[in-house]
Amino acid sequence: MALVVMKFGGTSVGDMCRIRNVAKRVAKSFDNGNQVIVVLSAMAGETNKLVAMAREMEDSPNEREYDVLVATGEQVTISLLSICLQGMGYKARSFLGHQVPIITDNAFSKARIERIGDRKIREALDEGNIAVIAGFQGVDRDGNITTLGRGGSDTSAVAIAAALKADVCDIFTDVDGVYTTDPRLVPEASKIDKISYDEMLEMASLGAKVLQIRSVEFAKKYGVVIHVRSSFNDNPGTLVMKEDDEMEAVLVSGITYNKGEAKISVFNVPDQPGVASQLFSPLSQANITVDMIIQNVSRGGFTDLTFTVPRTDFKRALTLVKKAAEEIGADGVETDENIAKVSIVGVGMRSHSGVASTMFQALAAEGINILMISTSEIKVSCIINDKYTELAVRVLHDIFGLAKKDVKEE
Ligand code: ADP
Ligand code: ASP
Ligand code: MG
Repeated sequence: MALVVMKFGGTSVGDMCRIRNVAKRVAKSFDNGNQVIVVLSAMAGETNKLVAMAREMEDSPNEREYDVLVATGEQVTISLLSICLQGMGYKARSFLGHQVPIITDNAFSKARIERIGDRKIREALDEGNIAVIAGFQGVDRDGNITTLGRGGSDTSAVAIAAALKADVCDIFTDVDGVYTTDPRLVPEASKIDKISYDEMLEMASLGAKVLQIRSVEFAKKYGVVIHVRSSFNDNPGTLVMKEDDEMEAVLVSGITYNKGEAKISVFNVPDQPGVASQLFSPLSQANITVDMIIQNVSRGGFTDLTFTVPRTDFKRALTLVKKAAEEIGADGVETDENIAKVSIVGVGMRSHSGVASTMFQALAAEGINILMISTSEIKVSCIINDKYTELAVRVLHDIFGLAKKDVKEE
């Protein structure tokens, strides 16, 4: 008897009819002799509505109460699915995060899972139940409800699969798997059969929101193979797994984009020890994550520093940077909110040269100016003007030959 974790995202449980379809799929797996744990998101759009309601009440809502509110979306879907399964003659039991329990730290709205109790779930399964667990939520050691950050149900599912040593972790979503780029932007994108944890981590952190980053970190740490697949058909999806030799042969596996950042430049910063720390410490104290940083070569004892921050934190960051710039005697601060980051990702880059220059040439041929560049062993990212995002993604997808190859005209 296999232990199977099946996670369904917001679109997959978006209305009553879709919840019934999920129930049929879950029941089929149970009928095949598996023990089944289901992890659900809220109905599509629900969490956004709850976030908007909290913000309508208060610009910066109290963090504890915010989590109490936004966690409610999942309570609706787990109970509906359990009711539906019971109506079909199956034994099903729903669990909220604190009933499992899924213990997290107390960082409201971005909590990290610390431990998962497996006793109650195992008991429910052994009594012949299908266990239906609310994704996205947990409980801290003081009993407060916490949430895991947007898209967090993926992490709930993988963490539960790891804690219960499940044989299968299926993430059902509204596309057939992980694609070479967002298939909603580039219809020619092709499905990837298997992708390494490291590539998936880069793709998720560079903008491919198909999996929450932390779910991939969990999967890598505990060796959980994730199968990303469609909830609307039976096609094989994408396996997110340990790197193998075949993966190295592919030069670029995927292209991502992220329009969620803004750029800040500080000019004529005195080139002396401690200034970078004076500039960036206030940002880290304010919990603002700085992404790309470029420091120019010093000229006449002065240098320029440019970096990016999430657009949602831009205003707070600017106030802090202006103050710090004045204190260290820098000349001025300039900003640009109309930027996007386009990236190419692939473990093949480790063993092939010329990938970055192909990227730069392709962008130049379209007249797209590169504002910043950053690289790692398996990715190259460029900041460009955001009006060119779609064009850049398409051009890069083309130049690296990622379009579907097997489409034949009838
Ligand atoms: P769910 O509600 O099932 O968790 P999400 O909306 O969080 O689904 O993630 C699925 C979406 O991710 C897809 O609809 C797709 O538009 C988007 N996406 C972005 N990049 C990719 C990619 N490289 N491969 C597949 N989907 C992607
Ligand atoms: N419902 C939550 C969200 O919209 C969690 C999830 O869907 O994974 O972010
Ligand atoms: Mg998601």
